[in-house]
Amino acid sequence: MTFSLHGLAVSTGIAIGRAHLVSNATLEVAQYQIRERDIPAEIARFEAAMSTVHTELEALRNEASVAGAPTELVAFVGVHAMLLSDPMLSDLPKEIIRERRCNAEWALVQQLEEVSAQFDAFDDAYLRERKHDVVQVVERVLKALLGKSRKIAKKTKDEDLIVVAHDLSPADTIQFRNVRVAGFVTDMGGATSHTAIVARSLAIPALVGMHHARPLVRDDDLLIVDGTRGVLIVNPDERILEEYRLKKSALELERSKLKRIKTARTATLDGQDILLYSNIELPRDVEQVRDIGADGVGLFRTEFIFMNRDDLPNEEEQFETYRGVVKAMAGKPVTIRTLDIGADKQARALRVVNRDEPNPALGLRAIRYCLAEPKLFLTQLRAILRASHYGKIKILIPMLAHVSEIDQTLALIETAKLQLREARQKFDPAIEVGGMIEIPAAALALGPFIKKLDFLSIGTNDLAQYTLAIDRTDEAVSHLYDPFHPAVLRLVAGVIQTGARANVPVSVCGEMAGDYLMTKLLVGMGLRIFSMHPAQLLEIKQQVLMSNASQLTTRVSRILRIDEPERIREQVSKL
Ligand code: PEP
Ligand code: MG
Repeated sequence: MTFSLHGLAVSTGIAIGRAHLVSNATLEVAQYQIRERDIPAEIARFEAAMSTVHTELEALRNEASVAGAPTELVAFVGVHAMLLSDPMLSDLPKEIIRERRCNAEWALVQQLEEVSAQFDAFDDAYLRERKHDVVQVVERVLKALLGKSRKIAKKTKDEDLIVVAHDLSPADTIQFRNVRVAGFVTDMGGATSHTAIVARSLAIPALVGMHHARPLVRDDDLLIVDGTRGVLIVNPDERILEEYRLKKSALELERSKLKRIKTARTATLDGQDILLYSNIELPRDVEQVRDIGADGVGLFRTEFIFMNRDDLPNEEEQFETYRGVVKAMAGKPVTIRTLDIGADKQARALRVVNRDEPNPALGLRAIRYCLAEPKLFLTQLRAILRASHYGKIKILIPMLAHVSEIDQTLALIETAKLQLREARQKFDPAIEVGGMIEIPAAALALGPFIKKLDFLSIGTNDLAQYTLAIDRTDEAVSHLYDPFHPAVLRLVAGVIQTGARANVPVSVCGEMAGDYLMTKLLVGMGLRIFSMHPAQLLEIKQQVLMSNASQLTTRVSRILRIDEPERIREQVSKL
């Protein structure tokens, strides 16, 4: 039966392929009753899964005991091993299997609910947080029982896959690089969540906030994802399919035509040079950045190299990664942002971070987390500094709001330099240090940022989130997330203008920079450095080539006085 569902389009284009349902181990385990005589076999199955996880943790523990392993990893393996051996997980599920004749997965999930409630009742915040360790241990056992992981399976059929999930974390989404995923849809999610950002960087059509896609779509259903109109069509008839095949080829043709401007100088009609940098999440993205002819890397979101693994990348591994990127860029600048973990970006090995803080987006994120974990931060700083010997690297600090955070960070960079000098390691002593302007407080009180930092980069995703008080990841409020809100635009324009007056370079590296509807507006505000996904770069370049900077300055200053987002949008579309 053909039907369609509507959601929020977060990455444009059209994908046609077969549905691949991704499940969340704890949410979606099978629940069935077993026969009396099958009880011993079910208990044996449970015990086998427990022993698989014991072995896994033992292997991790051995890795962790190797000299130099991060203390966080040692601690986390220890806690997990202890929880696994606790009778609440090792014995009580067996009683449930015996007494209620439940299958092992169901018994384990029931026990998890019981234990979670007990943890929730603790007064002590540290103990309450340990609930997440229990959940992770249970997920490991469930995976062992189910014999599968949350990894996206590689399909053998020569057909495109469309992933359908209740929710996907940025860590899940980044794995799509390894398999042929043509698009994805999720029931949860907001437009500038990191999951959506990763989709745009992969240039695959994606819809979020679908509400009911996961329960309604079946594995292998034929799907069309219309990432422009925000529609998912399930089991389309031949006529619709043909129509979309034509639309898809037309879009692909448009994109390939854009390649003609790849080597053209990026300047406005009145001769203002504009720098177009790219954002990357993983080192391998740099190939695309080079292919497209970007002027450099304007944002390397290093937190992605901490995801999808149980350990932490040590100094040597990070150094090799950063050096690989800067060497590949052959003299062009690479802006490495220090770890921006927390909120929707999680890494298993970083145990302090968890999703159940009361307000994760306002919590221990990014620089706040790094300053609370100086050992971890220094490791990254040393790795970046060492790589700076091999090319042009700049350090970018996320989520700064206070002068004290700038001072502490600069002091830690000095410490890292001192440590390297003592170890006779080479680095660029004049490495530039910049700050992300993504908290309204920073945008409004820019003085110390201008004085103490070498450059600024505006993170419009977070700046909009914090200005409008709208969680980037929450689909319930995503309709209120409006980058055309005058408050957001005035903050962005203010930072660009203050930077220009003080001769401090300012770039925009949030999603606004890659939105072609905003290019002329930003040029008119005075922006000369844009950083976006490589897949968006040529479209933005085309807009730049059609802009007249001096004319735009006057027209944009008028637009910035308008109070209604709708009228702003209308005027911007006429620029
Ligand atoms: C931003 O906030 O605009 C930004 C570029 O950083 P991130 O999206 O990684 O938070
Ligand atoms: Mg940000």
